[in-house]
Amino acid sequence: MVRTVLILLGAPGAGKGTQATRLAESLRLPHVSTGDLFRTNLSQGTELGQKARTFMDAGNLVSDSLVIDMLFDRVGQPDCAGGYLLDGFPRTVAQAEALQQRFDGGEDRVVIDIQVPDELIVERIIGRQSCPKCSAIFHTRFNPPTSEGICDHCQTALTQRADDTAEVVGTRLAAYHEQTAPVAEYYRQQGGVCAVNGNQHPDKVFEACQVCVTEAAA
Ligand SMILES: [Zn+2]
Repeated sequence: MVRTVLILLGAPGAGKGTQATRLAESLRLPHVSTGDLFRTNLSQGTELGQKARTFMDAGNLVSDSLVIDMLFDRVGQPDCAGGYLLDGFPRTVAQAEALQQRFDGGEDRVVIDIQVPDELIVERIIGRQSCPKCSAIFHTRFNPPTSEGICDHCQTALTQRADDTAEVVGTRLAAYHEQTAPVAEYYRQQGGVCAVNGNQHPDKVFEACQVCVTEAAA
């Protein structure tokens, strides 16, 4: 049985999360987030979680092979038999190579790279505001509330995440370009990446992502 393995790449703030959720739903593929797996293994105290704890207690980063063990523990479950969507992984070329080594040949890999220029990402993120009471999300420029700084739904004062500043976003983008952008290059050499313009309405981005999946299956 062929398993569709959908890999989403893109800078932080490029809209990967939104598209991952929508694609997982429309393609009926489990949405596998390595961040969630990590938290679940830790909180449930699984064998893999305990190994991760050992790394963390020693002040070390969890090894790639341990993250991949968690990943394959998850995607070995029956709901992933037809495929899955990877979110947040691989983040480095070393992880991409390690992932490739664990594939057994039954995978139909689809890599989508959502591209948004850095300056637009900065603009998107630093204007974000959210409601601490009802979690509604606004943007000072792209989706402003009716009255400035006040939630449309419950009239609570909107807040901004402390790390949504130009400086923090710049640091995250620099790390992305250094570590994760080469992952797209790796997949380009390995047979292909579908590039999607992320600088358009999320519905259009979604349509473009669907085209990538359809073309890969053809
Ligand atoms: Zn609200």
